[in-house]
Amino acid sequence: MTALAHILKARIAATGPMTLADYMADCLLHPAHGYYATRDPFGRGGDFTTAPEISQMFGEVMGLCLAQAWLDQGRPTPFTLAELGPVRGTLMADILRATRAVPGLHAAARVMLVEASPTLRKVQRATLGDHAVTWLDGVDDLPQAPLFLIANEFFDALPIRQFTRQGDGWAETVVGLDADRLTMGRTPPAPLAALSHRLTDTPIGGIVETCPAAPPIMARIGATIAARGGAALIVDYGDWRSRGDTFQALKDHRFTDPLAEPGEADLTAHVDFEALARAAAPARSSHLIPQGVLLRRLGIDARAERLAQRLTGAALQSHLAAHHRLTDDREMGSLFKALAIHPPHLPPPPGFDPSDA
Ligand code: SAH
Repeated sequence: MTALAHILKARIAATGPMTLADYMADCLLHPAHGYYATRDPFGRGGDFTTAPEISQMFGEVMGLCLAQAWLDQGRPTPFTLAELGPVRGTLMADILRATRAVPGLHAAARVMLVEASPTLRKVQRATLGDHAVTWLDGVDDLPQAPLFLIANEFFDALPIRQFTRQGDGWAETVVGLDADRLTMGRTPPAPLAALSHRLTDTPIGGIVETCPAAPPIMARIGATIAARGGAALIVDYGDWRSRGDTFQALKDHRFTDPLAEPGEADLTAHVDFEALARAAAPARSSHLIPQGVLLRRLGIDARAERLAQRLTGAALQSHLAAHHRLTDDREMGSLFKALAIHPPHLPPPPGFDPSDA
């Protein structure tokens, strides 16, 4: 049994069952035993992988998207170039390399990384070498300056609450104890104002998940972009609305029981993009589009061909496989979605459709 399992069981025994959000928060970020607090999740074979770890092309085209948005907005100087949850810093390193040739961009950029884990901050420092970088605990510490931001697979790691519809009320999924075992249970149903808009599209017995930490983060990003300019690119797996049970645990690239080894597995849930878009007002949101569509519109196919010319053998095969994995409809290309946030009076960044909302 993990040390964290002991701590959580003692707490549940003393104060009763805990919400999935509280359980997830401790499993991921407990200062001594949390998953992200204690390791590099891509290290030692890793538990999962992400687009920037699969290929440098992801960060390159996303970097050029942010750079073009910066140029289109008249090269505001200085501006914040921010990433949420960088893990190793690979994505920001690729963005910085791809934008090196954009005149004035690096001189104007203040690079800021929002990262809760001190362990991962050290890894990011090593990856980013001699680039000047500031680490922030949260988006509230972002300066009042034009904000060009990227978040890839960040929101899926934020703690969720999960509710099952019963009549016109909602029963919340909680983690409790059965003898000495952690077990999932449900509270008695109660009405919930925050979910009243989901009574129309959720059948009895249907499940809806909410992410209480996400709207305040988006509100801060949206307020800054609306007032100062900028753009935010948000890429994650999920959909416009949360539907069904998507809470999952990954260890060694395999799904595992989320209650089996608290702190040892990565816990995630699909992202409810509607909630992110709503919270970003008065900034505007683009349409939600599949990752593959965005990467193709941003020129990933041409970039892939150029890189392929320099490669042979196994390196070429793995490059072609990475391109396929990032863009194909049966792979990350449609499972992952992208949303852009932009100032109300301006079009969205390149690659995104304007919202008609
Ligand atoms: N962006 C990465 C994957 C992100 S995994 C990629 O593309 O490869 C989630 C990241 O967010 C980790 O770096 C984790 O430490 C960080 N994190 C999770 N919750 C956080 C929070 N509440 N505040 C700041 N960082 C957080």
